[in-house]
Amino acid sequence: MAKQYEFIRILNGIWKKNGWSSLIKDRCNPYTCTRTSYICTSSHKSQEERSARERLSTAVSNYQARVDLAASYRGMHFYGMGEGVCNHLTLRAPAADGNGDVMLLVPHGTHWSEVTASCLLGICLDSGDVVEGDGIAEASATNIHMAIHNTMAPKIQSVMHTHTPYATALACLEDSRVRMVHQNSMRFFGKIAYDSDYDGLPDVEDEGPRLARMLGDKEILMMGNHGVLAVGHSAAYAFDSLYYLEKACLFQVLAMSAGTKLHEKPDNIAKKVAESFDAITVYADRHLDGLKKHLARQEPHFMS
Ligand SMILES: [Zn+2]
Repeated sequence: MAKQYEFIRILNGIWKKNGWSSLIKDRCNPYTCTRTSYICTSSHKSQEERSARERLSTAVSNYQARVDLAASYRGMHFYGMGEGVCNHLTLRAPAADGNGDVMLLVPHGTHWSEVTASCLLGICLDSGDVVEGDGIAEASATNIHMAIHNTMAPKIQSVMHTHTPYATALACLEDSRVRMVHQNSMRFFGKIAYDSDYDGLPDVEDEGPRLARMLGDKEILMMGNHGVLAVGHSAAYAFDSLYYLEKACLFQVLAMSAGTKLHEKPDNIAKKVAESFDAITVYADRHLDGLKKHLARQEPHFMS
């Protein structure tokens, strides 16, 4: 029973640790307030209070984004989709100090099974400097992800790059197309771009803009001889996409290994499946929420 309250206990601890509760003290009571010197609005809030509430809201949004991204790192590890301390998942979030946005990123050398909300670095999206947290930001991750975020905002808030086994296996084939052979494949109909120009470890200055161009208006980039990249309007969306793409590639590679012809569905069927999935907008959030509940029971430290 105690574990059910672990999330609240940890959140309360973080709340106190960061002094966020002080932001809402002296709260204006609309029935008793006599502070007429303040400019009260119809909601009877002073400018001072509104400012405090905005700072509080920003701090909470920053923390919630950190929890989502920490859960995504641990979720990738949970599903066997990690790559040691390499590869990167990033999420744009309001800066904790209210000064614009930051890109949340794992500190270099942190194993994905050990990622916590507070360990994540906040990277300035203009300079690439670490402005939140302690640790080293891996240079290629900073430059490449930052360029994609800056090119594709505000539509795209999360960028995730992995070397997941089956998607990467497919990316190692001369023909790395995701074939429309299963509903997990068909949900990506029309959403996958392909990059077959791998020519060695990238120049970090040019790679981000190049990948953004290759991605165009798609959500997935199959990176030939390398791995896969997914983008989304939230960590939950990008995470869910990577998970189901990996399952689609797993089914395809297994089916191909049977040595008989794949049973591909025509475009009109695949398109209909993709549209059906698009209409169910809650799936991705529920996936990550379910994972967070599991982690809250098994590894509650991820929220700290
Ligand atoms: Zn890579």
